[in-house]
Amino acid sequence: MLLILLGPPGAGKGTQAGQVVEDYGLAYISTGAILRSAVKEGTALGQKARQYMDLGQLVPDELVVEIVKSRLQESDCEKGALLDGFPRTVEQASFLEKVLPETGKKVDCVLLIEVKENELIERLTGRRVCSECGTNYHLSHKPPKVRNVCDECGGDLYQRDDDSLETVKERLEVYKSQTEPLIDFYNSREVLARIDGNQDIDSVRDQIKAVVDKL
Ligand code: ADP
Ligand code: AMP
Repeated sequence: MLLILLGPPGAGKGTQAGQVVEDYGLAYISTGAILRSAVKEGTALGQKARQYMDLGQLVPDELVVEIVKSRLQESDCEKGALLDGFPRTVEQASFLEKVLPETGKKVDCVLLIEVKENELIERLTGRRVCSECGTNYHLSHKPPKVRNVCDECGGDLYQRDDDSLETVKERLEVYKSQTEPLIDFYNSREVLARIDGNQDIDSVRDQIKAVVDKL
């Protein structure tokens, strides 16, 4: 099974991903997480990607598609995968359509998580992330039990550089111009499922489960 989580930054893709991966035994592929770890390690990829990420812009397609191509060849993807934050452009989606048959897979479902814009801004500026395990929190919607400490692993929480108000606004514009066209792209292929992401975390999880259970 191959699932895609589509939606604007802050829609709750990362928050829902853990449960989906666990429920259906899928490998998890978050291009944002892979890029952030490359930046942290200071690899050649990280150095190239950083300039775009800091500005809230997309990293060039040719860099991102290489990441996904090699990640999909890893053995844990044999049982299926959940893509989070990829594809983000029509070019990336076309690339995926081209390489998937080589791996014996096809896109089974694109879960589009939709959330109102003012809520997205509130979610992103209040987001905190564990520096050790990457678990997401929110200052008011999903606070950790102990301030600034991860419930899962005890790691320190931090605010992503690109979650500043200015960069969040740029990322939302980039989503509208470059990623929203994917809604028509996948609608025409009859694999799009709309999820109301304005609901609380558990309700969103239940909507996703109801869709994926029927696949
Ligand atoms: P994305 O991966 O789509 O960018 P995240 O999963 O990181 O978004 O969620 C963004 C922020 O919103 C996080 O701080 C998260 O805790 C919070 N959040 C996620 N889903 C919900 C929800 N349904 N209701 C309220 N807050 C949420
Ligand atoms: P995310 O963690 O999904 O919010 O992604 C964080 C940042 O990583 C984005 O703002 C982009 O700069 C970059 N990025 C992640 N995924 C992609 C992608 N598929 N294509 C281009 N850039 C990406």
